[in-house]
Amino acid sequence: MGRTADVVIVGGGVTGLCTALALKERGVGRIEVLERHFTGSGQSGRAAGVIRGCVGHATVAATQLEGQEFYGTFEARYGIPVEVHRTGYLLVARSHERAHVETTVSVAERAGCRLGLVAAEEAVEIQPGLDADPAGVHVFEPGGIYVDPAPATQAIRLAATATGVAIREGCEVKEVVVEGGRVTGVVSNDGNVSAENVLVATSVWGTPQLARLGIEVPVRPHIAQMAFFHVPAGSGQRLQTTLFDSRAGLYMRPEGVAQMFVGRKEKDFHDPDGPAIDPDDYKQTAEYFAVQRMHAGLSVTLPSMSDGFVHRTYACTYDVTPDEMPILEQAEGIDGLFFALGFSGGGFSAAPWVGRRMADCITSGEKPPEITPFKLERFETGETITWSNTPD
Ligand SMILES: Cc1cc2nc3c(=O)[nH]c(=O)nc-3n(C[C@H](O)[C@H](O)[C@H](O)COP(=O)(O)OP(=O)(O)OC[C@H]3O[C@@H](n4cnc5c(N)ncnc54)[C@H](O)[C@@H]3O)c2cc1C
Repeated sequence: MGRTADVVIVGGGVTGLCTALALKERGVGRIEVLERHFTGSGQSGRAAGVIRGCVGHATVAATQLEGQEFYGTFEARYGIPVEVHRTGYLLVARSHERAHVETTVSVAERAGCRLGLVAAEEAVEIQPGLDADPAGVHVFEPGGIYVDPAPATQAIRLAATATGVAIREGCEVKEVVVEGGRVTGVVSNDGNVSAENVLVATSVWGTPQLARLGIEVPVRPHIAQMAFFHVPAGSGQRLQTTLFDSRAGLYMRPEGVAQMFVGRKEKDFHDPDGPAIDPDDYKQTAEYFAVQRMHAGLSVTLPSMSDGFVHRTYACTYDVTPDEMPILEQAEGIDGLFFALGFSGGGFSAAPWVGRRMADCITSGEKPPEITPFKLERFETGETITWSNTPD
């Protein structure tokens, strides 16, 4: 005979773990998080961990501010340390992007984010060595942070475990069982679990899993390529802040003292006609030409970095949707089935907000109004989300 739970969560990344923690805080008794590998082994352990409220969509900005608050107060709340790097966030944009950026700032401000336009000279004070165009647009958000995602994910795991969540690693869910239009449990390689509620929080792996239940989600794997650049030997160049530069199409954050973690703004990556990507079998390092372009872009932002060098690279899959925003849903026609995926490279920061709303959804059986923008049907009705802080 198998086990019984009130809620089974498939996937031990930040989305699943934050939802488990929030469910416990809402008084749910038996919660099992089933993770086929180890917790954080998907995208969660490999994110950049940047959390900034400077976003041009009020609800999305709110998710980020809640993320800043969650990670920033984590140790005080759960007694488990999470190293939070309070670097602020600097946005560097071109003069013709001014109107869009000003709209972003006012939307984010209305959502409660403290940020503002700064002059080019002030931007250089915030980030020494920045090649700041006096005609360019510069925004600084002092509350922007980053956290190292792997230990932060483990801290959430510890907090969830301490509240009584059962986490099973090496436990692959083979099937979500549906009988008579409602979920009755899951079948896994580590036993069957009966449950009236199942949350699928499996990012790139979720598309085929949901398809087997008759649910088509427009979530595709996309390979994101990242590189760590080391400052030139003997140079005093340091990255002081988390930064996005639209001239270079790059975001970056410090990595230790003398390195910079650099990623590209990935455009048009939801290509349904593109080559199929197997999230379990792809090249784990960045391509030479991608790294070369990143280095050229980094040298636009910080000219002294043209003499810097690549320390190492890696690649990981994003779970992307056409508007690069997640799908947060309660399944229609299958009672007790919930899913949260399609974070498109932004789910680490959003996870605390998402976890609380998905927990509300599961415990009440009703979708909280705040998650309505993230409904699946938006891709049919044309209500997709516009959120980018600079024009594409
Ligand atoms: C390079 C990179 C940089 C990023 N930078 C940022 C950033 O700066 N800020 C930000 O907010 N976000 C960032 N992200 C995005 C963020 O990491 C993800 O959106 C987030 O971690 C997704 O969490 P998740 O729990 O939904 O998915 P995952 O962490 O991928 O977890 C899903 C889990 O499901 C498990 N699983 C799959 N199938 C099964 C099954 N059948 N049974 C059991 N378990 C299963 C997998 O093993 C996996 O552990 C970045 C991502 C990448 C790749």
